[in-house]
Amino acid sequence: MSRIAFIGVGNMGGGMALNQVKKGNAVAAFDLSADALKRVADGGATAAKSIAEAVKDAEVVITMLPAGQHVRQVYAEQILPNAPTSALLLDCSTIDVDSARVVAKQAKEKGFAFADAPVSGGTAAADAGTLAFMVGCDEGDFARVEAALAPMSRITIRAGDHGAGQAAKICNNMLLGISMIGTCEAFALAEKLGLAPDRFFEIASKSSGQCWSLTAYSPWPGVGPQTASDRNYEGGFATAMMLKDLKLAQDAAARAGASTPMGANAEAFYALFDRLGYGGKDFSAVLQLLRGNLDAL
Ligand code: NAD
Repeated sequence: MSRIAFIGVGNMGGGMALNQVKKGNAVAAFDLSADALKRVADGGATAAKSIAEAVKDAEVVITMLPAGQHVRQVYAEQILPNAPTSALLLDCSTIDVDSARVVAKQAKEKGFAFADAPVSGGTAAADAGTLAFMVGCDEGDFARVEAALAPMSRITIRAGDHGAGQAAKICNNMLLGISMIGTCEAFALAEKLGLAPDRFFEIASKSSGQCWSLTAYSPWPGVGPQTASDRNYEGGFATAMMLKDLKLAQDAAARAGASTPMGANAEAFYALFDRLGYGGKDFSAVLQLLRGNLDAL
C-alpha cells in the first residue's frame, strides 16, 4: 500500500484517484470543487481540507490540473513547501513544456524526484485504468514512476528528460487534430462525389489513407467502430480540449522555431468551431461543419 496525495480530481483525476484506491492505496485527495472531492470520498479516498494536509506524509503526489498556471502555482505554493522530499512528484496534467521544465527544476533543487506524465485516453480510459502515459523524467527514476502509475495505466513510455512527456503529448495531439480534419474532409468530399461513406471507409481503411482518426475513431456516424459520432458527438474528446492542445503545440512551435503550417490551420479551424458554440462537442464533430450540416448537432 502506498500513501498517495491526489490534487485535482475532476473529470480525469477523479477516475484516476479511484483506481489508486481500488489497488489498495491510501489516497488523500484535494480539489477546489466540493462535488469533485465528494465523488472520490464516496469511492474510498480521504477528502483533505487543503493541499498541505493532503501531501504532508505522502509517498507519491499526483496532480491532474487544468493548465500550466495551476500546476506552477500549486507546486510553488503548496506541494514543494509541504511534501516530504522523499515523495515522488507526478504531474499528469497536459501543460506547456516550459512550465513542466520550470516545475521540474524547482522540485529537483529541493531534492524531489519529479516526472511530467501527461496521458492519452479520455475519461473512459481514466475510469477504466487504461491510460497511456508519456513520461519525462530522470532515467534512474523511471522504474519508480512506472510502478506508481501502474494502477491507472495501460502503457507507460519514457519519452526522455523533464518536459519530454509534455512534448510527446502535444506533438501527438497536433497530429491527431490534423488527421481528424483530413479524415472529415475526405468523407465530405466522398459524399459530394456520390461515394457511400461505408464504401469509402472500407476502401480507405485498407489503403494508404488509413489512419487512427479513420479506422478507430470514424467521425461518420454508423461507420466503423462505435465512437462519439454515434452519440451525436457527446462525450469523447471535447473540441475545447483539442483546441487547448493545438494552442500549446503552436506556442511551442513558435518558441522552438518549428514550421507547423498544418498545425496552425488545425488550430484556426478548431477555434472557429469552438466560437460557433461547439466547444463541448467531440472533436470529430467538425465533419458536420465541413458538410454544412451543423443543424444535425
Ligand atoms: P477538470 O476541469 O474536470 O479537472 C480539473 C480539476 O482541477 C477541477 O476539478 C478543478 O476544480 C481542479 N483544480 C483547479 N485548480 C485547482 C487548485 N488550485 N487546487 C486544487 N484543485 C484545482 O479537467 P480534466 O478533464 O480532468 O482535465 C485535467 C487535465 O487532464 C487537463 O490538463 C487536460 O488537458 C488533461 N486531459 C484531459 C483529457 C480529457 O479527455 N478530459 C484527456 C487527456 C488529458
